[in-house]
Amino acid sequence: MSTPDPTCIFCKIVEGKIPSRKVYEDDEMLVFHDINPWAPVHFLMIPKQHIASMAQVNDSHQALLGRMMTLAPKLAMQEGCRPYPEGGFRIAINTGADGRQEVHHLHIHVFGGPRPWAKG
Ligand code: C5P
Repeated sequence: MSTPDPTCIFCKIVEGKIPSRKVYEDDEMLVFHDINPWAPVHFLMIPKQHIASMAQVNDSHQALLGRMMTLAPKLAMQEGCRPYPEGGFRIAINTGADGRQEVHHLHIHVFGGPRPWAKG
């Protein structure tokens, strides 16, 4: 596990220094409800290690990112997304300023539930 970034709000959530509404946790990842949801279902999946963004991802992260992506649909259903194809969900990974990333700790947004949503 890499050293937490003391300036990173999501590292503080991983360390339990800032509370979150947890959806799932294991040794390598944490999943929690977004504090400012854009959709009826909106949670964030983060690696516990500090990876600033998708721009920093390398081959050593393949297994972890693969696990996160394959877990996302299961958690989406668990959290109330409606089944595919009538329902479904949206996954977004904002990266850098042009990608509208605000928190610089890699996170996968999972959105779902009946529309309209606040954004998008
Ligand atoms: O992808 P982006 O960096 O723009 O999104 C960061 C997300 O982190 C926002 O949706 C924001 O509501 C969420 N957040 C959170 N808990 C915090 C701080 C930010 O869920 N304590």
